[in-house]
Formats: sequence, C-alpha cells, structure tokens
Amino acid sequence: MSRAGNLVGAGVVALALTVSAYAQTPARPVTPSPSIARPLAALAASPLVPEAKPGAKPVTKPVNCRRVKCVALTFDDGPVPQTKAVLDALKKKGARATFFVLGSLAKQHPAVLRRMIADGDAIGNHSWDHAMFSRLSTPAIKRELKRTQAVIWSATRTKSHLVRVPYGENNLRLRKAAAASVQSAAVLWSVDTLDWKYRNSATVTRNVMRAVRPGSIVLMHDIHPTTRAAVPGIISRLQAKGYVLVTVDELFNGHLKAGKVYFRR
Ligand SMILES: [Zn+2]
Repeated sequence: MSRAGNLVGAGVVALALTVSAYAQTPARPVTPSPSIARPLAALAASPLVPEAKPGAKPVTKPVNCRRVKCVALTFDDGPVPQTKAVLDALKKKGARATFFVLGSLAKQHPAVLRRMIADGDAIGNHSWDHAMFSRLSTPAIKRELKRTQAVIWSATRTKSHLVRVPYGENNLRLRKAAAASVQSAAVLWSVDTLDWKYRNSATVTRNVMRAVRPGSIVLMHDIHPTTRAAVPGIISRLQAKGYVLVTVDELFNGHLKAGKVYFRR
C-alpha cells in the first residue's frame, strides 16, 4: 500500500473511532431557550426548527422522507388516560405519531404529554375546547391557541409549532391567526379514517390501508376505544408494506413554515 493509502486508511480509522466515541456519549438533556417569541416576519421566511426536547431519548436515527416511504399517523381530540395504550403500541413497534391535543384535556393529563415527548412523538395544538373557529373573532381564536400552547409548554417545556384547527376548517384568517399567535403551521390530512363515525376497528384499519400512499397524513382520534384497538394492527400492516411511521415534522424533514397549510408530503 502507498504512503497516501496508509494515510487515508489511518484517517478512516481515526474517523471511525471519533464516530464511535461520539455515539457512546450519553445524551445530555438540553434546556430550551426561555425566549420563544420570535418576530413573525422572520418565522414566515424561515423553516420552523423543532425545539430541543429536554429529557427525550434519541429514538432512532433521523429518517429522510425524501428517500423512504413515510407516513404520519395523527391522533386528535385527546389526551385521555387511555392514550397510553396508543403510545405503548407505537413504542413497541418503533413507530412515532403526532397528537393534536385539546388544551382543556392536556391540562388534566400532563404526564401523558411528557410521555409523548420522551418517546419521540410530536404534539400539535388542536385548540382549547374544540371550538368552531369560523364562529370566533380572531382575538378569541388566538386565545384558544395560546392557552393550549401554554399548557403544552408547562407540561413538556417544548413549544409546539403545529396547529390543526377543529373540524379541519381551513381559511386564510385561521391560518394567519395560527401563525401570528403560536407561530405554527396548519396541518390537515390526506387520509380520513372516519373513525368517529365507524366505531369498528376493522373498518378503521381498512380505511387506512386502502387510502395510504407514501407521504400521507392519516387522521384518527385516540379518544375512541375502537381506534385504539386498531392501532397495533395498523402499525404492523404499514410496516409490512415498508412504511416508516414518523411525526409530521419528520414527514417534511423539519421544513414546515408558519401560516402554511399541509395536507400531505
Ligand atoms: Zn378534533
């Protein structure tokens, strides 16, 4: 082997040692910056970067949804104590999801929110009490969102930057209110399981599997026992088809913009 070859070889060994030493360094909890208010103009221009998650363990290596088949399962209207069954199923199968929580319930179940963050799941803001935003004034909408944001922050010390307006309402006034009050992107869905209507686990599963495509955002509700019972099977079937189950942030590789609306990747 030439001298240059030896040097390259030594470099590779040194790099491998560095990487391996780095991989073995235990992750330290990161304290998020208390300054969470950023000018809206700056936010609108720049992609939203997920906040540091204190106490969260690195779940898996980052997923690149440009290259692999990703799907984002989303669960609305909780949390309830039984949401833990959904979290257990996700964790057991190495899957992640996004939970759009109501502030009024999140306040009652802060430990469930902390578990979501610790597991690598994401939390979105689904208003305080599921009000119909189109009937509210803009200041009232902002109050709904900010109040919920404060509960998410106080439970988890993470700042959510995802909003799902109740009933999937989507118009410019609502998106602007979400961007201005909580600097959030508006997340809707491309696959509606209609699990609130069909309280049957087999139907819910079928509705996911028939409509899912790479990049789908799937709407479900963790408040229904029939949906919770369907979740382990849905995860297994999706994984068997090669899907990686990610959060909404991961689905877009972290490039979500405040005030924009997202239906699918
Ligand atoms: Zn809802």
